[in-house]
Amino acid sequence: MDGTREPDVNSKHLMTVQVLQVTLGSRAPLICRIIGTMSLSSHYNSEKIRLSFELFPPRTAAGFESLRQHVVQLVRYEPDVITCTYGAGGSTRDTTLDVVDAVKRDHGLPVASHLTCVGATVDELRQTLDRAAARNVDHIVALRGDPPRGESEFRPVPGGLSFANELVALIRSEYPQFGIAVGGYPEVHQEQTDPQVDLKYLKQKVDAGADIVITQLFYSNEDFFDFRERYESVGITAPLIPGILPVINLGQIRRIASLCGAKLPAQFQSDLQRIPDDLEGQFQVGIEFAIRQTQELIDGGVPGLHFYVLNKSRAASAVLEAINWTSEFR
Ligand SMILES: Cc1cc2nc3c(=O)[nH]c(=O)nc-3n(C[C@H](O)[C@H](O)[C@H](O)COP(=O)(O)OP(=O)(O)OC[C@H]3O[C@@H](n4cnc5c(N)ncnc54)[C@H](O)[C@@H]3O)c2cc1C
Repeated sequence: MDGTREPDVNSKHLMTVQVLQVTLGSRAPLICRIIGTMSLSSHYNSEKIRLSFELFPPRTAAGFESLRQHVVQLVRYEPDVITCTYGAGGSTRDTTLDVVDAVKRDHGLPVASHLTCVGATVDELRQTLDRAAARNVDHIVALRGDPPRGESEFRPVPGGLSFANELVALIRSEYPQFGIAVGGYPEVHQEQTDPQVDLKYLKQKVDAGADIVITQLFYSNEDFFDFRERYESVGITAPLIPGILPVINLGQIRRIASLCGAKLPAQFQSDLQRIPDDLEGQFQVGIEFAIRQTQELIDGGVPGLHFYVLNKSRAASAVLEAINWTSEFR
């Protein structure tokens, strides 16, 4: 996390890119490039704490309708951006744009579409980016993605990209109107053993043109603050936004934590395990933990909060109400 709120190295890099693009010519008009590329990092480099919610593409019409209702509840907290993930398997990919499009049309809020390199050539990535641009998406969360199910290693398709920094560079050079967020890993990315090597690659993504870094979910703020210290010590100045997933129930959280490797504090786990059959009790324990976690992050000077809301509004709303989000921060 970067609490300094100073214009970052990345902004200077973006200006250089813009000047080059003016010289070379590009599809986007100059004015759009200047406003678009500067907006996300400068937005997060302010005194206000920014708020974002992450959705995922529903699989059914009923799921879509339910999501719309939950988004109505979430917008009461005046989020700065709403993002939607990009389906790993391919089936829900177009729905990502449908979701952000609906949010933008229903609420006029800035939206970010996630995009991964999985199974796509550079030309196919361009087609997706063209569709995002046509639907007025504001920002892209640029990711490499996980290896497809059943494969242990990520392999790009022929003509595809190997790492997220390449996707960032592609977007920054050809679609300068988009703000760019990338993923960061306070507990180290699961394919990486050396935290400093992981950080080196994260810096590469930021240097390629990312405006902000959003972290993988975590439950130990100590890990996050330690990561922030190392992040700053290698010279990364892009705002670092903690990703928060309030617990909804024990089974779900175990699954998610095992997928992305997040550690659950022992006391928290035992508090949840003491009430294996009480879903409402687990929800309350999880929310109390998330309230403490969120308050501590705010006290620690984070520039924004990114809630993984899992298409529901209840958990994030409970946390935001408890920390008195609306009156204190807006
Ligand atoms: C905020 C957030 C949102 C996400 N949204 C989605 C989503 O919508 N859809 C989805 O499928 N997944 C999503 N993910 C998960 C993500 O796709 C996985 O964590 C994936 O395994 C890594 O993606 P990345 O962009 O961080 O990869 P990268 O930054 O490319 O890193 C992947 C691995 O390669 C290493 N590495 C990076 N660059 C290089 C290099 N140049 N040379 C050698 N090694 C390198 C890194 O250390 C790391 O171990 C999200 C993750 C986060 C944190």
